Amino acid sequence: MQETIPHWLSKQADLAPDKTAIEIEDGYCLTFKELEYKSKGFARKLARLKITKGTHVGILSTNEIPMIIAIHALSYLGAVGVLLNTRLTPEEINFQLKDAEVSIVLTADHLKENSKGIKAETIHSFSEIDELEEKEVRLCTELNLAETFTIIYTSGTTSFPKGVIHTYGNHWWSAVGSALNLGIHSDDKWLMPLPLFHVSGLSTLIKSVMYGMPIYLLEKFNERTVHHAIMNKGITIVSVVTVMVQRLMSFLGDKKYPESLRCLLLGGGPAPKPLLEKAAERNIPVFQSYGMTETASQIVTLSPDNALKKIGSAGKALFPAQVKIMEPGEDSIGEIHVKGPMVTAGYFKNEEANQQAFNSGWLATGDLGYLDEAGFLYVSDRRKDLIISGGENIYPSEIESVLSGMEQIKEAGVTSKADETWGQVPVAFIVKNSEVTEDEIWTFARKRLAKYKLPKEIHFIDHLPRNASNKLIRSRLKL
Ligand code: ATP
Ligand code: MG
Repeated sequence: MQETIPHWLSKQADLAPDKTAIEIEDGYCLTFKELEYKSKGFARKLARLKITKGTHVGILSTNEIPMIIAIHALSYLGAVGVLLNTRLTPEEINFQLKDAEVSIVLTADHLKENSKGIKAETIHSFSEIDELEEKEVRLCTELNLAETFTIIYTSGTTSFPKGVIHTYGNHWWSAVGSALNLGIHSDDKWLMPLPLFHVSGLSTLIKSVMYGMPIYLLEKFNERTVHHAIMNKGITIVSVVTVMVQRLMSFLGDKKYPESLRCLLLGGGPAPKPLLEKAAERNIPVFQSYGMTETASQIVTLSPDNALKKIGSAGKALFPAQVKIMEPGEDSIGEIHVKGPMVTAGYFKNEEANQQAFNSGWLATGDLGYLDEAGFLYVSDRRKDLIISGGENIYPSEIESVLSGMEQIKEAGVTSKADETWGQVPVAFIVKNSEVTEDEIWTFARKRLAKYKLPKEIHFIDHLPRNASNKLIRSRLKL
């Protein structure tokens, strides 16, 4: 395989110089040519800070154009971007900076003030870099697919966050795999309301450059803004997580989305079946997907043809990838393993985690699931959250999915509790939408869940414990 490709942004700036690369809410657009020009200029300014090939540079920013320019600028220098979640505490950020060997951090202007607790040799806002004079340096004209472009930490839902290395090749193949599944339409415009510091957001930046496709970038999700963009801005694809689909559907009411909207790409975590069914009934094209930071965005996706037929499934592995279930139990459920050129080369300087996760090129995901007779993947839950009750396996997300189908329930979290008779039993934590009693919940659940899966206790709480990636941390579901 050829190891180098032309620099992807320069290539697209040559192929489609005047096409829009990025559009933002106020209507401001940047073409590929302009994006290339600005990114190269920014790279020459960064060179003043001695950022060069292999330098690890932290980026702490919410979604904005200067962040995109900074990310591309690093690729022109061969430097590595360590993308930081802005919702982390300074201690959490400092752990990642130290672990990823970052000395220089670039921040959005509005975050510079808040960066006082952050330990780095130097911290510069994007505007401060802009004021520097450009230095004459040789910029990369080619990208080596084997070299590292970014490091992103896992969300830390099951244990301490791990620094995932993404090579240019990982990003390249992730974009290729997605294109072979979703196709590329000449009128595509991808709305991105997810943070670019997560791999789903970042990978869309690369897709934009490779496909010559505009991104409609939002600083953050807001159902009104997303709805308005879908209705009026020619959006064809939107990246979403479950809660966004819920909010968009309530906002949509009885109306319909225009035909031009061809995909709401749903990722990041489990999707309750009642929600998927509701979306299907209303012809909202929700495509479920499965992936993780380690797979440089989704690695399994339900193709358009099957989106309605296989509700609840995450689909099949993208063209250049494979999925298999190891050591399936009686219920056919076992640990999901994945392999493919978009799968990370490994965790940064973390031999122990690498040893545990990789085996002959396969990544053990820590997730449980099964393949149906036609090879479609169903994700059951995280291995660490499995509840074993009287010898039966119980998957908390199945119970959560059922409970969240009750109108009066906003969201549900299920964890286990030690039990003398059964070993472990499930207990549910409920956030209400409107008034509901324990008895009503049990009546609803009894009709839909086998007896051994019924939560033994129901507790009402105000909100579920979530981490900086907004993921439910079941180990913190305690009274
Ligand atoms: P950590 O690895 O540090 O515990 P994390 O796994 O939450 O954190 P991410 O890489 O952000 O970090 O999340 C990937 C995980 O999200 C997957 O391993 C899986 O558990 C969950 N996930 C993703 N897609 C789906 C899906 N379709 N259904 C169920 N779970 C999903
Ligand atoms: Mg993980």
